[in-house]
Amino acid sequence: MEGLSPAIVILGPGALATARRLQDGLPGSLVHGLAGRVEGDVSYNAFGDHLRDLYRQQRPLVVLCAAGIVIRTLASLLDDKTAEPPVLAVAEDGSAVVPLLGGLAGANRLARQLGTLLDVAPAITTSGELRFGTCLLDPPAGYALADVDVAKHRVADLLAGAPVRIEGEAPWLDEVPLARDPEARQRILVSPMTSADDHTLLIHPRAVLVAVRADATAAAVTELLASTGYAPCAVAVLLARAEDMAVPGLAELSQALDVPLRFVDANTPDFALTTVERAQERGIALHLHDRPLDAEDLGQHRGRLSVVGLGPGAAELMAPVVRRALDEAQDVLGYATYVQMAGPLRPDQLAHASDNREELQRARHAFELAASGRQVVMVSSGDPGVFAMAAAVLEVLEGADDPRWAAVELEILPGITAAMASAALAGAPLGHDFCLISLSDNLKPWAVIEQRLRQAAAADLAMAFYNPISKARPHQLERALDVLRSCRPANTPVILGRDVGRPGGGLEYTSLGALRSDMVDSRTLVILGSSHTRRFPRADGGEWVYTPRWYDPELL
Ligand code: SAH
Repeated sequence: MEGLSPAIVILGPGALATARRLQDGLPGSLVHGLAGRVEGDVSYNAFGDHLRDLYRQQRPLVVLCAAGIVIRTLASLLDDKTAEPPVLAVAEDGSAVVPLLGGLAGANRLARQLGTLLDVAPAITTSGELRFGTCLLDPPAGYALADVDVAKHRVADLLAGAPVRIEGEAPWLDEVPLARDPEARQRILVSPMTSADDHTLLIHPRAVLVAVRADATAAAVTELLASTGYAPCAVAVLLARAEDMAVPGLAELSQALDVPLRFVDANTPDFALTTVERAQERGIALHLHDRPLDAEDLGQHRGRLSVVGLGPGAAELMAPVVRRALDEAQDVLGYATYVQMAGPLRPDQLAHASDNREELQRARHAFELAASGRQVVMVSSGDPGVFAMAAAVLEVLEGADDPRWAAVELEILPGITAAMASAALAGAPLGHDFCLISLSDNLKPWAVIEQRLRQAAAADLAMAFYNPISKARPHQLERALDVLRSCRPANTPVILGRDVGRPGGGLEYTSLGALRSDMVDSRTLVILGSSHTRRFPRADGGEWVYTPRWYDPELL
């Protein structure tokens, strides 16, 4: 992937000064520091896992530690050379720059750049690079090699001193000491067309724009490219009408062709607009530009709104898919406490923290941002569908009349809800049928709550109570307990989970008879057992609570 800014990874404070020097010269790069040891822009806990994650994301890596450590850490991932990002080891004190991997992805170029920043000679070992001062197998952004394996043979010929002629525009080769000869058999050809012969190192400029109507298929695009002779990897962008943003086929098409998808917006240049208009008549239209095209200049991304659950608090209890959404986010919205819990955010990510009561306003803001093409994440604690933002977001969407909101790629990503996190610590108190009830009467009448409590008790369900109490509602838990005590025996097990999964959090065990509302606050989840819920001592002195999977009506 082109254009990803490097991650500068450090393990301790000794490397920070060098890391910051490199960062100053690498726009958009961030310093990743080991949590508890050194403060970077991004903090990580496990060096190996973090490095491998970044590598898999194809992120260029500048790692300030021994080359051997980097090699051993990435060894298990190294079998696919073409998917390799640049990986460089840099001495902590800045005295050595060693490109290790990713020669085809710009490692040597990056090594030279770092060498200049640190005023040292980079340890470049690639023969083509040494001879030509550039890697012929790694053309600059906007160009792609037609075939790496064929190109390697051609470069070997050139290294052996074969004369060569250059056809097409290749400004980056101007300074390269090749044995140029207009009559040479060998040639370097820069062209969007597929055709080439045995003596050609073929490089495609990404200069073809493919405009599509909503019903275009990958087969039709491939066929049209083949009939015109344009190489598939000369395609820079797939462009469609903004009205078609939500058409699933277009996203699939973009994936199948491995080309970025953009939609017409106010900044789309005229030549691209005309191509999109032509595509409305005939399904697909092509435009060959006179120089490489950058998808970012041609239209808008489809915005995305991910409504995510962070889980109860601990990072290990957050789903990887949520972690990924947060990593990809440009904007993070939510109640201030949860935005903080989602962090630390990178300096390039915007936090929009708001008050707890402003859910609908927050949801509208999220749609506005996403409709402008941004990657937006809305955070809830626990699960977003459990007394949290997912329902607010859908409520706003259902009532919206702006078609751009409906076109946003909306996804709801689940999390471990407080009831599950608390129940797991206690054993399995929700091991049979149960219900989740919010005791807050902010948005529903208290009478409904009392009625549901009675009915849930009559159905002999185990229950988990969210929002059990708050400063504005100090007496309601007592009222709820009165209802429950009239239906269930005093020895019914009760578990209080407070700040579960967060520092200082944990469980308290009690019973319906002994429970007092001053044992509970707004950060507590209350679990009440059914008639079958049992408790027994653990070996460590605590106790297990569970509701068996079987049911004996006699016990009721
Ligand atoms: N979406 C959240 C619930 C939001 S309602 C979830 O799925 O967990 C807020 C209530 O959830 C709080 O009043 C409390 O009852 C409960 N809660 C949320 N996080 C908690 C935690 N870490 N420990 C205990 N209870 C929690």
